[in-house]
Amino acid sequence: MRDPRYDILFEPVRIGPLTAPNRFWQVPHCSGMGYRYPNAEARMRGIKAEGGWGVISTQEAEIHPTSDISPANEARNWDAQDIPALRLVADAIHEHGSLAAIQLVHNGFHTPNRYSRMIPLAPSPALYDGNDPVQARAMDKTDIANMRRWYVQAAKRAREAGFDVIYVYAGHDMSVLQHFLSRRHNHRCDEYGGSFENRLRLFREVIADVRDAIGDRAALAVRLAIDELLGPEGITCEGEGRDIIAALAEEPDVWDVNLSDWSNDSQTSRFSDEGFQEKYTAFVKSVTTRPVVGVGRYTSPDSMVRVIRKGILDFIGAARPSIADPFLPKKIEQGRIDDIRECIGCNICTSGDNTCVPMRCTQNPTVGEEWRRGWHPERIAPLPAPEPALIVGGGPAGLEAARALAQRGAEVTLAEAGSEWGGRVSREARMPGLAAWGRVRDWRLGQLRNLTNAQMYLQSPLTADDILAYGIPHVALATGARWRADGVGRSHRRPQHFIAEGAVLTPDDVLDGGAAAIPASGPVVIFDDDWFYMGGLMAEVAARAGHDVTLVTPDVMVGSFAQNTLEQVRIQRQLLSLGVRILPNQLLTGRGADWLDLACTYSGTTRRIDCAVLVPVTARLPVDDLWEALQARRADWADAGLRSVTRIGDCLAPGTIAAANHSGHLYARTYCEPGDPDKAPFRREDLATVY
Ligand code: ADP
Ligand code: SF4
Repeated sequence: MRDPRYDILFEPVRIGPLTAPNRFWQVPHCSGMGYRYPNAEARMRGIKAEGGWGVISTQEAEIHPTSDISPANEARNWDAQDIPALRLVADAIHEHGSLAAIQLVHNGFHTPNRYSRMIPLAPSPALYDGNDPVQARAMDKTDIANMRRWYVQAAKRAREAGFDVIYVYAGHDMSVLQHFLSRRHNHRCDEYGGSFENRLRLFREVIADVRDAIGDRAALAVRLAIDELLGPEGITCEGEGRDIIAALAEEPDVWDVNLSDWSNDSQTSRFSDEGFQEKYTAFVKSVTTRPVVGVGRYTSPDSMVRVIRKGILDFIGAARPSIADPFLPKKIEQGRIDDIRECIGCNICTSGDNTCVPMRCTQNPTVGEEWRRGWHPERIAPLPAPEPALIVGGGPAGLEAARALAQRGAEVTLAEAGSEWGGRVSREARMPGLAAWGRVRDWRLGQLRNLTNAQMYLQSPLTADDILAYGIPHVALATGARWRADGVGRSHRRPQHFIAEGAVLTPDDVLDGGAAAIPASGPVVIFDDDWFYMGGLMAEVAARAGHDVTLVTPDVMVGSFAQNTLEQVRIQRQLLSLGVRILPNQLLTGRGADWLDLACTYSGTTRRIDCAVLVPVTARLPVDDLWEALQARRADWADAGLRSVTRIGDCLAPGTIAAANHSGHLYARTYCEPGDPDKAPFRREDLATVY
């Protein structure tokens, strides 16, 4: 039963000619499952409709080959050939009574058109904003007329494909319409540049054109970046962001407002809290009567009710919360608040799109697998003959395997050596800014505690003898991994024995003991050959504890993979503000008790720096001694009733928390049914099934 406090979230809201069934609005978000995997895209969005999202949008839909953002895999709406794939998505959304939205985008100079080879278009001559040697040309009047026509044609195709809400988008610094609005990008001297009214002209015209094209059969949404966090250099919510909304106040049927660029819009929990956009978006409803959508990583129904009651938003916009839990609205509706799988704000999902593959989610292992493996985030087939399982290790892999197996009806025993659940998640969540990561553990524990067929034991370090004595037929080893201390990583592929000439701490020491584990004996050097978040995190912990800290890396920047999670700049900026010295492009070559020798990765030029404590953040090794011990006892398995032993998560191959979670889930989904290693483990998209 729904708590009446949340009734307001389920009120229908009028948007132009249509009525949204509730206030849950899945805003456009990339998925990595665009035009190349239309079945996957459709299934993923359809499941969100089933989960109760009232309006569900596609990711950006390129409107023309001059907006070809290959190899990213967005939606494509270049011509009639794209309609069937788009229709699949709209139909999947309609199947559950939700409204289907599509975000029409021309990327302007934000694309080098690698596939189409067409010259990018911009208000003024501009370099592409990536690193391809490509420059956009300034649009002349014919180009402007073409652009307006392309929007109209794309809008008509979107209607033909069945979309109810058509978005005109000027956000994330990724839209030609925003480029025209921007003083920074628009240097024109004609009626499309210069004054505010002139820079607004194309946006205003396209909105009017699309309105005419869709008539009164569909709703028109406008997505606008109302602050770029660039101060006077950019659009601000006190300045032109406000002026744009005021000037076009009643033109759209609904406003969708957010921050630009993407890294500001999709800030991680390490750098922002739920509702972090409210201070920028709060003014919008005071200058328009149209309903307003906004985001802010909302996962708590109380926060959602608060922003609506305070008159900040009319719709709870969500991308990540809808990925982590496609059934979030349904769970609120059914009074199952504790079942909500809250987004942890880690941005592993954005790394999927940024690496041009279907996204993963740390919390939701089924995302990206809905169509190809047939995984549903809520349902999982009961086991025909549930055989008992023993799961060893209570980190993310073990917890997820136990949870999903118990959901399938198996008797599950989960044993954890330590005195707390969560494994690496619990230890990492104690690091600065990462508390929300504990939700990975908390959700699984909450679910497990409601299942009567799962027995859970802490402080239970198991040996091979123990396991053979239990006689449980199937065993999953989720015993995790430990950070190496010998320097082996990406750049040094063999042990660097000299490392041990001075004090060495591994990230595990710091994760276990916190800053107190770092002795105050002199300068601390972090050697980051992992290239994601752990190196920067170790430097941050040491710097906050008052140590003199240098981060050395063979990489060209701190944690380059964090570019894919949109937080690299914030991490490096934060380290600099904490006084951490950063030495990129450096290898380790020697060590004494209080010094470290480095060599430039390009020139080989060496230098010596002070170092009392070295923290190598390199590779990890699986904790697989139990696996080895059980392999050595294979002859005893049959007598003990042991039939299978499977390594999962970091014990099999150290990776992200998302990968461990997926591994645990996969174990449960394929329990007692290992796939054929000679075949792809999932269905593949066959475009012939669409066209
Ligand atoms: P993953 O990310 O794969 O889930 P973690 O490192 O987070 O791995 O978790 C592994 C967990 O396994 C840790 O909490 C650790 O205490 C536990 N563990 C390791 N060896 C044993 C063992 N022999 N018996 C029980 N638990 C174990
Ligand atoms: Fe949230 Fe992380 Fe999942 Fe993205 S990957 S939806 S940020 S939990």
